[in-house]
Amino acid sequence: MTTSAAHLERLDDALYAWLPPRRGWGLANCGLLVGDDTALWIDTPYDRTRAAEFLAASRDLLPPGADVDRVVVTHANGDHFWGAGIVPDAELIATREALEHTHFEPDPRQQHALVRDSDPATPLGAYLKAHFGVFDWSDTDPVRPTTLFRGELEFRVGPHEVRLTALPPAHTTGDLMVHLPGQGTVFCGDVVFASTDRRPGDHAVHWAGPLSSVVDACERVLATGAETVVPGHGPVLDRAGVRDHIGYLEYVRERAHAFHKEGVPALEAARRVVAENRFPELALPERLVITIGTEYRHLGPAETPNVLDLFGEVAALAAELET
Ligand SMILES: [Zn+2]
Repeated sequence: MTTSAAHLERLDDALYAWLPPRRGWGLANCGLLVGDDTALWIDTPYDRTRAAEFLAASRDLLPPGADVDRVVVTHANGDHFWGAGIVPDAELIATREALEHTHFEPDPRQQHALVRDSDPATPLGAYLKAHFGVFDWSDTDPVRPTTLFRGELEFRVGPHEVRLTALPPAHTTGDLMVHLPGQGTVFCGDVVFASTDRRPGDHAVHWAGPLSSVVDACERVLATGAETVVPGHGPVLDRAGVRDHIGYLEYVRERAHAFHKEGVPALEAARRVVAENRFPELALPERLVITIGTEYRHLGPAETPNVLDLFGEVAALAAELET
């Protein structure tokens, strides 16, 4: 099995972004901020193999005696969170609300079994194996944050100031952004996916919503004044890249509301938005099933979705699009 072959990109004397080599489910960006005798990770890779690679690359950059002793996770999706077990002694920081999201997803071993045991002859099984089969959670225990906060939290990593801001439910319940004022940079997790036609990524996928809250979160990222924005997935962005993404979100929101008003069911609405093909450069259009389903729940009546049912619909649409 090939591993991620991700690389660390230097953003500043003390700051690096860990960037997977391609787009796709589960391949999240992470950050490394180096202090004098301490270091912070911002998010973790999805599984232990990839987390070990990130740790080895991080340690190559640390001064003698320093180690990754703090980790902040932008949200509790496994692809930003489950690699934290590779640094078991590190303080693990998340918002208090992020804990709520962990009940929504299977734990790592459950997910491993789900992907392993799924029937590749079905659209769902084929989709899970194609997009998640490269990861290995067979020996990954559930990760537990050690520090939970609400609102804001500030601390230093050596001389560098770190400002965490909890966001209202947007991508998930419990999102936060990490503002590094000295570096002019925000790590914003999945409230921003790189969806600019200059440097395309994947379609966004949003679990909590509504999309107006995701737009608000993007505006809060811009309001920090940061010039560099590291999204949860895809290439590092400038401010224009965030504005491009706001345009994407507003388009999807407008279409979802219009189809809802016409009485079009959510799945059919997703199919129609995909067919409009407004953003042909973005991959994984079938994710619109999830994002539009989320928006529909806010337009009522609301039913809590089952993640596996959702993925069944995503996989079915992906199969339709391939034929
Ligand atoms: Zn993600």
